[in-house]
Amino acid sequence: MSTSKRSKSISSTKAAQTSRRVSRVDKEVARRQSPRIGFHAPIAGGLHNALLKAKERGCETVQIFSRNPRGWLARPLDLEEVETFKRVRGETGIGPVVIHANYLINLAAADEGIREKSVASFREEVERGLQLGADYLVVHPGSARGSCEADGIRTCAESLKAACGDLDLTGFRILIENTAGQGACIGHRFEHLREIMGECRSLDLGVCLDTAHAFTAGYDLRDEDGFAATLDALAGNVGLPNVRAVHFNDSKAEYNSRVDRHWHIGEGHIGAEALARVARHPSLAHAAFLLETPQDEPGDDVRNLAALRSFTSSQHTDGENAPCSTSS
Ligand SMILES: [Zn+2]
Ligand SMILES: [Zn+2]
Repeated sequence: MSTSKRSKSISSTKAAQTSRRVSRVDKEVARRQSPRIGFHAPIAGGLHNALLKAKERGCETVQIFSRNPRGWLARPLDLEEVETFKRVRGETGIGPVVIHANYLINLAAADEGIREKSVASFREEVERGLQLGADYLVVHPGSARGSCEADGIRTCAESLKAACGDLDLTGFRILIENTAGQGACIGHRFEHLREIMGECRSLDLGVCLDTAHAFTAGYDLRDEDGFAATLDALAGNVGLPNVRAVHFNDSKAEYNSRVDRHWHIGEGHIGAEALARVARHPSLAHAAFLLETPQDEPGDDVRNLAALRSFTSSQHTDGENAPCSTSS
């Protein structure tokens, strides 16, 4: 694809930065040969129920909302629910714990009022994550509607710094998620993520790779060459060790459609073979693999987890263990 040529040209200048990052990845994470797997679990009846549900499903990691994802106002966490969450986390051993920020936040908003509300709401998400002892907070870069892509990227970076530049984020990392590029959403090119990370160096941002978003944004994961080019672009722009979470989704929307429709593993346009290649790749094994597939019918999450598990458990028999060229 044309963009992989572009990213290759910058990959050499980014190589030094990437190798510095490698040394910062903690040893346990670096040693892993297959990813931790989990899913976006419901929080009905209390945040800790997501941990229990994940454990029940045989997961090692989990993603949650820490609040209603479609409202500006969130009830503050009380001490008891924080204590319960931490206790159950200790008992279940689930980790990393990933929080997905609410959907109203638009850090790239051209409208000043929306941007202010978004900065405040994002700060609140970070504070909740810190209270709960979560590891990662995933957020979309936002929509640049009313301005241009370059302004949206700048605004997003400014918003992130305004929201949490003064907070102590030790042991906690904000992950910027790639998007499908619906409407005026930024973040559909890995170059956008690189720019945001570069503008916010003091925040040490990481990345969440959503397979369905990447695919419909024009990263063709369907064959080996397309996946290699995608990994190459990811390595050159953000550094693979910084990809701390993978949203492992098939896509109901077609390649390059810029439409965001997650679908059951193996039943969408990416397909089982291509998704297995992603799940087995050693250069992503340090990341938490999280399903965000539809949970409409009873058993949907069980079936999709079984598919992901079948990919990762067969990884050492297919000779695909060579690290990708740009990840070293
Ligand atoms: Zn997301
Ligand atoms: Zn996602």
